[in-house]
Amino acid sequence: MTDVAIIGDGPGGLSAALFLAKNGLSTVVYGQDKTAMHWALLKNYLGLEEISGTDFQVVAKKQVERFGARLESRHVDAVSREGDQFRVTFEGGESVTSRYLILSEGKAPKLAQQLGVRFEGPAAVTDQNGQTSVPGVYAVGRLARPARSQAIISAGDGAVVALDILSKEKGQAVVDWDSPPKS
Ligand SMILES: Cc1cc2nc3c(=O)[nH]c(=O)nc-3n(C[C@H](O)[C@H](O)[C@H](O)COP(=O)(O)OP(=O)(O)OC[C@H]3O[C@@H](n4cnc5c(N)ncnc54)[C@H](O)[C@@H]3O)c2cc1C
Repeated sequence: MTDVAIIGDGPGGLSAALFLAKNGLSTVVYGQDKTAMHWALLKNYLGLEEISGTDFQVVAKKQVERFGARLESRHVDAVSREGDQFRVTFEGGESVTSRYLILSEGKAPKLAQQLGVRFEGPAAVTDQNGQTSVPGVYAVGRLARPARSQAIISAGDGAVVALDILSKEKGQAVVDWDSPPKS
């Protein structure tokens, strides 16, 4: 069983994976590199002067894997709740389980609807930490804010849900801070 299964390999899902794996949770991201980022030329991502969405994805995936998250090129067909865990089923019927589920499906929220997540119009409803109406299920990025589709917002959402899960695991508020070595 994986600690966290993330469905969606755009900036939302990858950002969540980075924080979770960096802080020791076993984390798998499912997606087939079909993110909208391949149509983007980012001139508005703070800290980066200009980068194509495709180049951004290449760097982001390397960074996430370096911290120990696994990226699997698979399409998730179904998700369901089984007691206090989740079952993630792929094309062909194979399945895995996880303790938390992060949905970063982008603009086509099939799995969130399948799980019975509450929607307002096209947006999955979440609290300020990305938690949906289904305990243990988080929604980030375009799925939660379809009318605010920006890469940096999705990445920020991913960081928020990761810190919420890490805080729940630790039983206290967690931040992920690093400092440069002292000279
Ligand atoms: C033409 C264009 C130009 C843009 N320009 C900019 C720009 O200049 N600046 C900017 O900030 N933003 C730009 N954007 C928007 C940006 O691409 C999105 O805001 C960003 O991709 C959203 O990230 P996300 O992680 O929320 O979702 P997405 O990037 O949409 O990622 C969702 C991922 O989940 C996958 N997925 C969904 N369901 C499943 C499933 N069942 N199993 C496995 N995988 C699944 C999808 O295939 C996809 O890869 C642009 C978008 C377009 C279309």
